[in-house]
Amino acid sequence: MSKFIEYIPIYEGDRYCLMCAQACPVRRVTKNEATSPHGWALLVASVQRGMLQWDTESVDTLYRCADAGNCQGNCATNRPLPYAIQAAREEVVRLGYAPASVKVVEAKLRAFGSPYGDATNDERRTTNADSSLVIRLDASSHPPRIPTNTRDDASSSSVLFVGDAAYFLKPEIVPAAETLLNALGVNATRCAVGQSSGYLPYTLGLWDTAREFAKSIVRDLESSGVTQVIALSPQDAHALKNVYAELGVNLPDGVNVSTLVDVLANAGEKLKIEPRAPQAYTFHDASQSIRLKHHALNARVLATQAFGAEPREMLFRESLAASIGTSGGLQYTHPALAENLARTRIAEAKATGAEILVTDDPLDAATLEKYADGMQVMNLYQLLAEQLANGR
Ligand code: SF4
Repeated sequence: MSKFIEYIPIYEGDRYCLMCAQACPVRRVTKNEATSPHGWALLVASVQRGMLQWDTESVDTLYRCADAGNCQGNCATNRPLPYAIQAAREEVVRLGYAPASVKVVEAKLRAFGSPYGDATNDERRTTNADSSLVIRLDASSHPPRIPTNTRDDASSSSVLFVGDAAYFLKPEIVPAAETLLNALGVNATRCAVGQSSGYLPYTLGLWDTAREFAKSIVRDLESSGVTQVIALSPQDAHALKNVYAELGVNLPDGVNVSTLVDVLANAGEKLKIEPRAPQAYTFHDASQSIRLKHHALNARVLATQAFGAEPREMLFRESLAASIGTSGGLQYTHPALAENLARTRIAEAKATGAEILVTDDPLDAATLEKYADGMQVMNLYQLLAEQLANGR
C-alpha cells in the first residue's frame, strides 16, 4: 500500500478539525484557511472524493505547506498530517502534475546531489555552477548523482553529518563544530559533505530521488560501521530519524542519530563555556526542531551558557516554532511566501528588543542573515566555539 493510500483516513479525519490551526506558521502569515492544516486535508480529501481535480491551482496550494510539523506537534492525538501532505505531493508527482519549479530542483539534485551545486572531491565549492547546464539536463534520463563515499575517514565510530547547506552557505560552521567535538574528546569524521540528506526531494514529492539519496547514505553508514551520526542541521536529523522510514529505508541497526546541540547539551562537565559580555539576544528554533525531543530546551541551555543569561523569547517558539521558508521546499516553489515568513521572523525577533538572533541550523542561519535588516544573526555552534574555555 502506498503512503498516500495509507494516509487517506488522515485527510478525511482532519479536513474539518480546527484544533491545530493556530499553530500553523503558514496560515499565520497568509491568513487564508485554504493554506491551513484543515485546508490542505480538505483539498486532498476533495480530490479523492472527485469534487476537485489536480490542476495548476490545486497543486500550487498543496505546495504552500511548509512541512513545519506544528500541526502534528500540537495535535492531542499526534495525527501525522505533515507526513500525509508530503505523501499527497508524491502522488501528485506520480500522476505527472509536478510544478515546474520542482522539476528544476530535481534536475539539480540529480546532477549535483544538492540544490546548490557540485561538491567536488577536493571540497572546492562550485556554488556558481552553470545553471544553464542544469536546465539542459534531462532528469528522466540522467542518472542521479547521489552521495557516495561521503566519509573522508573511516577510523571513527562517529560521523559529523555536514550536509549541503553548511557546506555551500555557511562553511565556517563546520570547523566550529569540530572544535566543539574535539573539546569533548569526540573524533567524528565528516560525512555527506555538500550532499542533500534526501529531505528536499522527499518534501517536494520526488520520492524516487529521495529514496536513492537515503539508500546511499545508509549503505555508507553500514559499510563503515558507524554507530553515531551527529547532524549539524535539525532538518537532516529529522530526515534520518523520521523521513527515511516514510521512504521505506531503514537505518542500520545500532546507529544513533542526534544533533550536535543534543551531544553538547549532554556533555556535562566536558563542555566548559565562558560567557561573553552580556547582550540581549533571542533564539530562533530552526526548521524541524519541533520533531526532535528536547532539542529546543537543549539549544536554550547552550545559548544561556554562552551569553550568561536566558534569551528574550519570541511568542512563536518551541512547539509553536515559526518556519522561515526553509522547509517544505517553499524557498523553491513559493519564494515570495518563504521570504514573507523569514521577514516576519526578523520582525518578531526585533520586537523582543534583542540585538542578536541566534539559531543552530546552517540553512536557517544563512536565511535569517539574508533578511536580517540590521539585526545581528549568530550561529550557535560558532558562538559556543568562540566561548570555549577548554579544548581549543
Ligand atoms: S506541516 Fe506546518 S505548514 Fe503544513 S499544515 Fe502543518 S503546521 Fe501548517
